[in-house]
Amino acid sequence: MSGLVVRYSSSPRSDPACQIHLSHIYLTGGNKMTLLEEAQRVADEFEFTSEQLKTAVVEFRRLMDLGLKNNDEAMTMIPTFVSDVPTGTEKGTFLALDIGGTNLRVCSIHLQGDGTFHLVQSKSAIPKAMMIGSSHDLFSFIAERIESFIREHHEDKFDCTEPEHMLQLGFTFSFPVNQTAVNKGVVLRWTKGFNIPDAVGVDVVDLLQRAIDAKSLPVKVAALVNDTVGALMARAYAAPKGTESLIGAIFGTGTNGAYVENMENVHKLEKAEHQTPTMVINTEWGAFDNAMRVLPATPYDNALDHASVNPGYQMYEKRISGMFLGEIFRQAIISLTTASDPGMGGASLFNGEASKQLNLPFSLDTSVLSAISEDESPDLATVKKVVQEQLGVSAGLEAIETLQAVQLVSRAIGRRAARLSAIALCAIISASGRLSSSPTSKVDIGVDGSVVEFYPNFEEMVREAIREVLGEEKEGRLTFGLAKDGSGVGAALCALMARKQQEMGIRYSADELLKEKGEI
Ligand code: ADP
Ligand code: MG
Repeated sequence: MSGLVVRYSSSPRSDPACQIHLSHIYLTGGNKMTLLEEAQRVADEFEFTSEQLKTAVVEFRRLMDLGLKNNDEAMTMIPTFVSDVPTGTEKGTFLALDIGGTNLRVCSIHLQGDGTFHLVQSKSAIPKAMMIGSSHDLFSFIAERIESFIREHHEDKFDCTEPEHMLQLGFTFSFPVNQTAVNKGVVLRWTKGFNIPDAVGVDVVDLLQRAIDAKSLPVKVAALVNDTVGALMARAYAAPKGTESLIGAIFGTGTNGAYVENMENVHKLEKAEHQTPTMVINTEWGAFDNAMRVLPATPYDNALDHASVNPGYQMYEKRISGMFLGEIFRQAIISLTTASDPGMGGASLFNGEASKQLNLPFSLDTSVLSAISEDESPDLATVKKVVQEQLGVSAGLEAIETLQAVQLVSRAIGRRAARLSAIALCAIISASGRLSSSPTSKVDIGVDGSVVEFYPNFEEMVREAIREVLGEEKEGRLTFGLAKDGSGVGAALCALMARKQQEMGIRYSADELLKEKGEI
């Protein structure tokens, strides 16, 4: 039997306006597709061309500007009221508190003024009951942990009564908040298994400070910190002398970035009397292009989105971050197990078998893609092992083509994630004008998160995409540095910057500055 088989896919590749295009035409019968050709066809669906990149960067800049003007845009562009990044010469001892997942972390950080620091910390699990109880119980528990930490490490501070000599604390709170001052933010909702209804709509800094005051601890909550801002601050402090950090970017469970913006561009803020020239903006870029004007959409992306808890939202994040890449991969692999009609002689992955694991939505971690993608051995031994252990499949693994097919798809998904990540970076870098200001100027980017840290060649693939947009010369003037521990040293630096701003008489608050009052 032979015939013309036409495959359609909904991924608009070269022409964004074209919703359906021909992805493949092949003859069955005499010219049946091999498994590797099938896998290449799927991998090609994850292509994101230079042209698409350039168009997307223009769109990102448009949405940045919109978010800086209006209060109700999806890409929120949240003013953090932190006016600048540190230089590396800051000194002092600060506390940091991080609550965001299963653990509660209290640290004290001694900044030595030369880009280095000492950190001591204590970690404790948050009891399940505290995650779904009352705000009083949770914050009393947190204050208790802070108390025992200070008793152990800063006993002398208990004698201190003047607020300015108290320990200043940076508070990393990784839940959605509406931040209205450097030390003020209202809880919008709980995520990640927490549910404390009485805290919603309440200032989380106030909740923490009250619990601290109830125990008469010598601690002042100076700054509320988002993890992207923490990453930016941590990198700016540690970056080599003469390197100015512009962006802090997270590629972990989710993706987001913060950067230094000129105040004159933050149109949604009124001009303040003691205005500083710059302010750190938390972009919330995971929500870039929810309208899907420029982002790619393969059938696998669409299936993921439909199965997600928030279809139509966080569309950029769903193509980049650790929480989602494993699921895109699972969808693509499943499609290959059913790729060809056996009656027509085509090849199917794993002889057409999908394991129980493979059929379970969101069952694959992104570390699976890292392990599969980085195997350079001729027999792809690691790929085989991962497929057996993580995908729960054993059929067809004696053929190297099977393993090559799996790797092709995995690499295509990782590569697209890296190329998409370059959109945000290119847009922010070019909007800042910093690389154009002088032929020798440099831009530094602090990055954090397991995807950028562990996915093989992630940074190099991001750089390749940046070269295509900004050119080789400009890309050569970019430096990337891992911004480890934004919620520790980064939060401490936010507390320091907040205190510095206060000493300078700068008291930014959204209540005073946000235009269109009533919308915040
Ligand atoms: P968080 O986002 O909570 O700060 P991480 O930065 O560690 O934590 O990111 C966790 C995410 O990274 C998870 O979604 C996980 O799938 C992914 N991940 C973990 N290990 C790896 C790895 N080796 N390679 C790629 N992604 C990974
Ligand atoms: Mg993190």
